[in-house]
Amino acid sequence: MPIPFVGRRFTPADFKVYLGDVKLKPNGFQPKFVTLHHMAIPSLADRPTGLSPQHLRNLLSYYQDQLGWSGAPHLFIDDRPDGIIVFQRLDARGVHAESFNSEAWGIEMLGHFDHESISDGRGAIVRDHAVAAMGMMCDYLKVSAETITFHRDDPKTKKTCPGLKVSKADIVARVKAYQTKGATVIVEEPDLAEWNIVLPGGVDYRPVHLKENRPMARIRHLLDLLRPGGKFAIRANRKFVDWTQASGSKHAIPVAEVGDDGAAWAFVRDIAEAAGRNISVADRTVSLS
Ligand SMILES: [Zn+2]
Repeated sequence: MPIPFVGRRFTPADFKVYLGDVKLKPNGFQPKFVTLHHMAIPSLADRPTGLSPQHLRNLLSYYQDQLGWSGAPHLFIDDRPDGIIVFQRLDARGVHAESFNSEAWGIEMLGHFDHESISDGRGAIVRDHAVAAMGMMCDYLKVSAETITFHRDDPKTKKTCPGLKVSKADIVARVKAYQTKGATVIVEEPDLAEWNIVLPGGVDYRPVHLKENRPMARIRHLLDLLRPGGKFAIRANRKFVDWTQASGSKHAIPVAEVGDDGAAWAFVRDIAEAAGRNISVADRTVSLS
């Protein structure tokens, strides 16, 4: 089946009208939440004037002809004034995140937000368009912004998507503010940004949660970045995660907290130790080397 391509651009105000006219088929795709992605490649730097009609046709042919997919992400977002792009029909199942495809609308932001900033410049424009689109889509579905998933929440992926610089708490807060006020408002201090982890190579890592004022990270997520590979198993008592490296060496990491999504979190110090990394803390920044 061909991808039900639309390929039309909208300002946030025009997208509201378009979305209002979408009628889900009773026996068809029934989205329940929204999943956020970044394109990674191409980055914002790769597309200095956003996505052209030819870029969209190239994406269509890549998904449809090369990958053989019958669906695609529903929206693409760039930093043009009409930066909300309906890529495929919203009443049809998309393909974007293995665990979420059957229930989620997928939104792809132009940018590589492991490296590019989402909090200023072009990245912030992309973010604000995505927040507006997600606010309208949550309203359409009559669900809270808390239901938004990031691609990296999918247990079947190891991607950092929508990028390490994108904080879930910040995005959810912005979408809630958009839903309440009908306009993008600035959330000055996202609650996950108080602490910063800097990975070897200088890459910022998110998300960071605090417990007893000590920074925690998701065990599997952070270890995959520090020492990729290996197997993870949480013990039945949920007090330790056993990590077996590809080399065969084993580490038990004390679990500090288990998230609602089942992800096990540990203190960053314990994760760093298991990975054999040095850790230094200065002024709410944890550097791993
Ligand atoms: Zn993704």
